[in-house]
Amino acid sequence: MSTDRALPSTVKHLIVGAGFAGLCAAIKLQEDGETDFLVVEKGSDVGGTWRDNTYPGAACDVPSQLYSFSFAPNPDWTSSYSPQPEIQAYIRTVAERSGVLDRFVFDTAMQDADWDEATQRWTVRTSAATGERHTVTSTTLVVGAGGLSEPRLPDIAGIDDFRGHTFHSARWDHSVDLAGKRVAVIGTGASAIQIVPELQKVAAHVDVYQRTAPYVVPRNDRTYTRVERALFKRVPALQRLYRTGLYWGKELLVPGFTVDPKLALPAKKLALANLAKAVKDPELRERLTPTFEIGCKRILISNAYYPAIASDNVVLVTDPIARITADGVVTADGVERPVDVLVVATGFFTTELPIAEHIRGRRGASLADTWRDAGMAAYKGTTVHGFPNLFMIVGPNTGLGHSSMVFIIESQVEYIRDAVRTMGLHRYDAVEPTATAQREWNDRLQRRMSRTVWNTGGCSSWYLDAHGKNTVLWPRTTVAFRQALSEFDVAAYDVSAPATTPTATPTEGIPA
Ligand code: NAP
Repeated sequence: MSTDRALPSTVKHLIVGAGFAGLCAAIKLQEDGETDFLVVEKGSDVGGTWRDNTYPGAACDVPSQLYSFSFAPNPDWTSSYSPQPEIQAYIRTVAERSGVLDRFVFDTAMQDADWDEATQRWTVRTSAATGERHTVTSTTLVVGAGGLSEPRLPDIAGIDDFRGHTFHSARWDHSVDLAGKRVAVIGTGASAIQIVPELQKVAAHVDVYQRTAPYVVPRNDRTYTRVERALFKRVPALQRLYRTGLYWGKELLVPGFTVDPKLALPAKKLALANLAKAVKDPELRERLTPTFEIGCKRILISNAYYPAIASDNVVLVTDPIARITADGVVTADGVERPVDVLVVATGFFTTELPIAEHIRGRRGASLADTWRDAGMAAYKGTTVHGFPNLFMIVGPNTGLGHSSMVFIIESQVEYIRDAVRTMGLHRYDAVEPTATAQREWNDRLQRRMSRTVWNTGGCSSWYLDAHGKNTVLWPRTTVAFRQALSEFDVAAYDVSAPATTPTATPTEGIPA
């Protein structure tokens, strides 16, 4: 996708990122008649994480009927859990049909954003080509850059000396032919468990380096029949009903995470039965059995992962990696296993968002500076004290372990829409959550968090930051999230209105 659009010098709303979040913001602002916006996207297409994650086997582990916009149902999903190309095609279709793409600028990254107190505007520097305008000022800055967008490479000695091909799961190198190769996969998270079964089919040999065994429940995937798809198309209410059923089914899982892990025992039994069914070797099964409470790390879903691990051409390595050499991986027991291709499925920067270094607020401090000591924090996951008119989508403590992030995104976009309406109505130049509102919101949130399985389940995960604080997940139902963000609560904000010139009353200037 390309647009030859030059950057304007100023826009009302600058949106960063063209994934589900940025696209949703653009569509909904346009619906409100807010047409003066620009979306800058560092990649060459819409889609965000679904554009970037093209690894073999990439698919969503939330049913597509739910993992899609409520305002853009797709009766054509081919199966309950859609593969990446179908999701990417869906996002592209929604973008094209919505008529917003003429305000998208691709291959252009936001580099820095600075709040200018004097003009009450953001000054945003982008990577636009030399010779072109690369700075835009805007009233609001809407960041939809995603929490799973910056690959985290493992800090393993010698990794740069490896002479074969190395790539991260989110930056798959499709030019490398894996047929007949010896492949090593580092990591056993949501990405790795989708990759390994595909590699097992083509590679000569696969070593899977596991640091922590995950829980993997069966994936009840199935292809929709032609009749079902026709019904979804002709009777949209039926598709909505189906989506609603899925939604409430997911909401019922929340107490197992947030109240008592015992409520998640059926899921634990399901995962252990999934393992026992596919892996007959008791020693291998033991090494694949998680040692923490279910739900503490993301619960993975796959029918293919355990059978792949049990295959003759796959070895599960659980000795820690000591170093990487020019030709292979050496584990702590001194064994070196030769490798042609190294797949690094080690996740993303989630608690130290790289973009936070580049957004500077009222006193010139960046989000990263502001969050350094106590971790990421926002008001309602969306606005941040010290950063007027900044709206984050999928900001701190908005992530989910059980349902669709698209629901969260839509909830946040509704809140932002209402903020923009409120600003227009009262002619506010700037809105910024008060320090008290933000502190109270986070104190309450972290009190709830302390009782969740993510904090008490005995694991380390990408939900927790360096201080052990969960700054990623939302610790309640998505219903509660939507309710909390149902209207822009201006009372929790400091607002600034334009300086008004006193208007002369009719008697002024008339001599007595
Ligand atoms: P991840 O869940 O963070 O998993 C990273 C894996 O790499 C973990 O097994 C981790 O081990 C391991 N690891 C990290 N550093 C390592 C090191 N230095 N040495 C050895 N092992 C190391 O990352 P991900 O699998 O890319 O998934 C991230 C998130 O993306 C998911 O949780 C999910 O939210 C999303 N995702 C979703 C889907 C989907 O279907 N919707 C698919 C893929 C990803 P430890 O467990 O010991 O830390």
